[in-house]
Amino acid sequence: MAGKIGVYFDLQNIGGGLDVEALAAQTRDKWGDLTAVVKVVPLLAEAVDEIRADIETQSLDGVLLCGASPRVDGDLYRFSVQVEHVNLREQCVLAYRNPDNSPVDSEEAPELLTLMARDYVNMGVVKLQKSEVPDSAAIKGVPRILVIGGGWTGLTAAAEAAATGYEVVLVEKAEKLGGAACNIPTGSPLGPLWTDKQPVNLAAKIEKVTGDKSITVHCNARMEKLEGQPGEFTAVIATSGGPVTVQVGAVVLATGWTPLDEKYLAPMGLGVSPMVVHAAQFGKMLAAGQVTARRIAFVLDTTLAEEAVRKAAEETAEAPAEAAKPAPEEGEAKPFVKEDLESIKHLQYSNAVNSVGMLRLANTICEKTDDATQAFILYKDMTVPGILERFYKKMQNRLGVMMTKADVTEIRDHGDRMVVACKNTLLGMDFDLDVDMVVVPTGLVPTTAKDVTVNFAYRQGPDFPDLDLFDGFADSNYICFPYETRRTGVYAAGCVRQPLTMDACEEDARGAVLKAVQCIEAAGHGVAVHPRSGDRSYPVFNFVRCTQCKRCTEECPFGALDDDEKGTPKPNPARCRRCGTCFGACPERVISFANYNIDQIGSMIREVQVPKDFKKEGPRILILACENDAYPALDMAGMRRKAWSPYCRVIPVRCLGSVNAIWVSDAMSKGFDGVMLLGCKYGDDYQCHFVKGSEICNRRKENIAETLNRLGVQPERVDQLEVAIDEYDKVPDLIDGFVARITALGPNPFKGM
Ligand code: SF4
Ligand code: SF4
Repeated sequence: MAGKIGVYFDLQNIGGGLDVEALAAQTRDKWGDLTAVVKVVPLLAEAVDEIRADIETQSLDGVLLCGASPRVDGDLYRFSVQVEHVNLREQCVLAYRNPDNSPVDSEEAPELLTLMARDYVNMGVVKLQKSEVPDSAAIKGVPRILVIGGGWTGLTAAAEAAATGYEVVLVEKAEKLGGAACNIPTGSPLGPLWTDKQPVNLAAKIEKVTGDKSITVHCNARMEKLEGQPGEFTAVIATSGGPVTVQVGAVVLATGWTPLDEKYLAPMGLGVSPMVVHAAQFGKMLAAGQVTARRIAFVLDTTLAEEAVRKAAEETAEAPAEAAKPAPEEGEAKPFVKEDLESIKHLQYSNAVNSVGMLRLANTICEKTDDATQAFILYKDMTVPGILERFYKKMQNRLGVMMTKADVTEIRDHGDRMVVACKNTLLGMDFDLDVDMVVVPTGLVPTTAKDVTVNFAYRQGPDFPDLDLFDGFADSNYICFPYETRRTGVYAAGCVRQPLTMDACEEDARGAVLKAVQCIEAAGHGVAVHPRSGDRSYPVFNFVRCTQCKRCTEECPFGALDDDEKGTPKPNPARCRRCGTCFGACPERVISFANYNIDQIGSMIREVQVPKDFKKEGPRILILACENDAYPALDMAGMRRKAWSPYCRVIPVRCLGSVNAIWVSDAMSKGFDGVMLLGCKYGDDYQCHFVKGSEICNRRKENIAETLNRLGVQPERVDQLEVAIDEYDKVPDLIDGFVARITALGPNPFKGM
């Protein structure tokens, strides 16, 4: 707890709107016992040495910086004591507008603005007072990386990890290394000039791995168990020689993909005619010299398959239950249902890989047959990532390869040949194409969708959770955190993360290895690896008051909490991402972080001066804003002078998942008229940095609403709203709309009690 604080006001950044000297004077008056120093400095950024000297001479144990947002120049203000920022620029002076939208007096600070600034400073002081310097939970950080999967990506990862000086253990389920790359002797371009096919040189890659003394390879092996936490995992590998136990610091998951079930491509002829194969099958046949066809259609348009599944699924859904057909006999195809619509999405996801793959296959077959083959590439969307565009351009001019955009409306068997019906082509006419063979796309389904790949010995189960949310991919947030899975310390790379071309798989392997290295180093220093990189805090449990209700263990999105033999939560600090969802869940409020806890935020809420006269002095609204997207969006809105109601007070939270219901009760008993929970989108297009925090908060909000109802308080006084970081322009309308709704409801019935 900070007991001797220095408070510094940044004149240059807030002086244009506020009477800063008066603000400093009120701080001295109110917090004289706690504040050893209260200063107005001309420019905070130039007062760093002065502050450092004050810390020394005055024995300060906390520093409160009142000026710009904590997101601005945070690195400048690293001191030996705790530091808190009061955001008086972006979310106070710049975001201020008069309630009636009249022009703001430039000579004298409006009273409402002064009240707002005072509230924020008082909240800042109490926040610092209730905060402690977190001690670290450093663990040994074993310098060894486990790579699961010995295909193209896994081999690259193993070699790259070894090159950084780490030991590597590589686990491959097949008898030999190489995976799907064994069937690809010649690849699309893997490097400059990016125009020509390239030998993949798999043998050299394998040799690099097997010849490296710091890499131990286990083929014919699978993961039996992974337990522990980042920095000190224990992996048990089932090998033909029996179980092998090894300590590792982090894991790279490179288990690749399996092909989408043939039944989804049956409307395109796959599994129906022997003249139809999917791209990966064709590659294998090509490598084995088994392709005899000389007129080949490569069909990238999968509308036929998608439409057939969609239609069948709709019919199944619409069929009345009593008219349901008898269950299919063994071997008989099951009717498509809603879930199949999810599976078929993998064809779309794999479009880039198939686009490049079909260019490569068409080129290779033409070469192998001395240009005696006619390859027709029929695409709806030719998706060629990045610089591979150069390869595409070259293929456009290649003899023997004909490409056109086309709607492929039918693929039918015509005795000794196939007919592909094409409409809306670039050639300006519709036509039927006679070919000897049809190649349809391969749907790359991540292995995680089908198999348990890691076998976690975690309380929350052996698999990655909620994979349906990610279409089976092991990633935890595509937008912000590539490679990170929902199990800290395990990083996905290659096609288990998303369908990727071979050059991209190599890049991915390097990225995942760097994350693994970062993770081991962070564990060794006792700090969070991501997304709050460098955070030394972690949740501490007061087990004396724990009722073993298990809400925390169930709601932790990252499986950081196990149970001990008595059913009490057993924390694994290095697995924890410091989101606070557990303490938001705990009904006994026994979980806290040294620098973020229930009492601290509750005290901040109680520090706001809520006027009794609603009509004259307006409502007061508490905004609990997620620090990941919502808080920066508020900052950006302020910076652009997109002002909002001056009746609001914003408190940042680590994630909406960390919002404990007691804060809402605190706000209501204090007399706040409404509470707005501002966080990330949830559901299918979720953007929550902690995966489910905003969704969990919404569920809790429903319970809060019930409680408010029972107390005779309108549940509409608490609402959760969504904002993405780039939606700052929506902020004023979101806030003002909520304030208008609360104003219409009138004062909180508890006001003044
Ligand atoms: S802070 Fe988040 S990641 Fe850590 S234990 Fe709690 S819920 Fe799990
Ligand atoms: S939520 Fe709180 S009371 Fe329940 S098990 Fe977790 S720590 Fe114990």
